[in-house]
Amino acid sequence: ATVVNRIAAGEVIHRPAHALKELLENALDAGATSVAVTVKDGGLTLLQIQDNGSGIHADDLPVLCERFTTSKLRAYDDLTRIATYGFRGEALASISHVAHLTVVTRTADSPVAYRAQYADGNLVPAPGQTKPAPKPCAGNQGTLIQVEQLFYNVRNRLKAMKPANDEYHLVLDVVARYAVHNAQVAVSLRKAGAGSVADVATTGGGTPADKIKIVYGAAVAKELLSIDDTVAHDCQMTALVTNPNYSTKKFTFLLFINNRLVESPKLKRALDALYAPFMPKGMHPFVYLALTLPPHKVDVNVHPTKQHVQFLHEEEIIAAIRDRVLKELQSANA
Ligand code: ADP
Ligand code: MG
Repeated sequence: ATVVNRIAAGEVIHRPAHALKELLENALDAGATSVAVTVKDGGLTLLQIQDNGSGIHADDLPVLCERFTTSKLRAYDDLTRIATYGFRGEALASISHVAHLTVVTRTADSPVAYRAQYADGNLVPAPGQTKPAPKPCAGNQGTLIQVEQLFYNVRNRLKAMKPANDEYHLVLDVVARYAVHNAQVAVSLRKAGAGSVADVATTGGGTPADKIKIVYGAAVAKELLSIDDTVAHDCQMTALVTNPNYSTKKFTFLLFINNRLVESPKLKRALDALYAPFMPKGMHPFVYLALTLPPHKVDVNVHPTKQHVQFLHEEEIIAAIRDRVLKELQSANA
């Protein structure tokens, strides 16, 4: 069963950036206002995330990495899943099957923190312990998750990894996006090691536009047009889109639907096509788009490595978003 679980886990978590996305969402779900990420070797040697959220009760630690352990109430219904972050109770379980996982956590009502180590879904004895049990220790309120030696036991996954620097950039991409969308949360990312400079460092507060300036730079930030509107079928859109003065070789498209980082190739293509006539050939805009849809109208492909969404009235909503952005571009250039 262990091997089967390991293979299954390797299908859920393809690379460090996927693991990190799950861990970041957990920290945000826990109400953190500060999240600090540290990685080593692109996240393969170490992926660490410290939050100041609710913490995990010591009683819950023994089963934390069992599959389908979740504290998040929700209907077992695909269509409502997108309304919350975590939706499977599978992330920590999967990670524990393909890495060494350590959790240090303290809740507000506990005088001490607890440290717990996991392997293959189970709590394992800490060094010097005979029986596995969470071990009291010092620690602030919140949760520290350490993922070490990711894929040490899944050779094929390890072989499929890009160079550490490329994996690091994928991690950076995820952190940057969440930092923009969660402007109220202080988010940082750094490589492990004394004196390393943070590659993302936001303070809590301000707006997504402020965070775009910090994370993506002033050149983008000064060309942003802001849209806040309800477009079609109760789709609320909040967007920051560059005006056509700005163009770049790579289309950076940050898409959140109901606060979940997702991908919609169709929407991306529609926006890119909309901008094309305004830009030099081969150049693209920057778009941050946060949509809120009634949960029953969204369906997310539950495969966590894809995050492709489909929604009801998709064609109409995409057309409405496109028209709304076009209107903004035209009035900006009028
Ligand atoms: P899910 O997020 O779908 O519930 P996970 O495997 O990601 O499943 O997490 C399992 C459970 O562990 C969560 O429901 C939550 O109770 C707890 N948990 C995980 N990470 C944190 C965290 N950073 N802070 C507080 N609780 C956490
Ligand atoms: Mg989760």
